[in-house]
Amino acid sequence: MTATAEILRDLHLLHHRAKALRDRLASAPRTLAGRQATLANRQADVEKARKALQDAKVQLKKHEHALQAQQAKIDDLKVKLNQVKKNEEYKALQNQIAHDKAAMSKTEDEILQTYEQIETQGVALAKLEAEVKSFAQDVVAIQTEIESQASSHKAQLQELETAIVEAEISIPEQERERYSRTVRQYGADALAACENGACLGCFTSVTMQMLNHLINGDQLMFCKSCGRLLYLAEHAETTSKRASR
Ligand SMILES: [Zn+2]
Repeated sequence: MTATAEILRDLHLLHHRAKALRDRLASAPRTLAGRQATLANRQADVEKARKALQDAKVQLKKHEHALQAQQAKIDDLKVKLNQVKKNEEYKALQNQIAHDKAAMSKTEDEILQTYEQIETQGVALAKLEAEVKSFAQDVVAIQTEIESQASSHKAQLQELETAIVEAEISIPEQERERYSRTVRQYGADALAACENGACLGCFTSVTMQMLNHLINGDQLMFCKSCGRLLYLAEHAETTSKRASR
């Protein structure tokens, strides 16, 4: 006895389920790798932001030291100012002090700006760190899920592959080679339902003679156009059975 429409229909379904599992098994590591790459980029952003904040703090220290030096210089000049006798020298010192005070005021502005910059950068960094931390946790969760799914998917795939081999036993010996070739060519779509007299793989009509063989289930039929192994669609089968009664 040759493979019935029911067996072939099941075989087609089994091929599809196996393909879906293989696709998921193949795509999951890619999904994970993509997320891990994004995480690495974001972690690099955090490092950059930390470094920028560090640099701003160093800058602040420099400005503060500069301010101290400027203050010391002015104090020094004020002492000298009390000691000079000549009017010219007095004037020159006064000018120098005014000039240095202006410089000091500029440094004070810079200090203020740097403080503000540090505060803004600190807030942004804390936000970024929290986001990246949460994203890293997501990536770990995805990884755990993918790993646990992969083992159950592999087990399911093995079961399906066994079921496929069992269903293929009903394919007559002399048609096995052709069937295997078709599977290599079309993968999960090596089989196609025949509905309303047409192959659903390529939508080409089948001959009356082929249809009769499909209805009688006495011979394997391959679509003359696309080469897929045909089976009668489920409702077509019940209709034809009813008609033959
Ligand atoms: Zn076809």
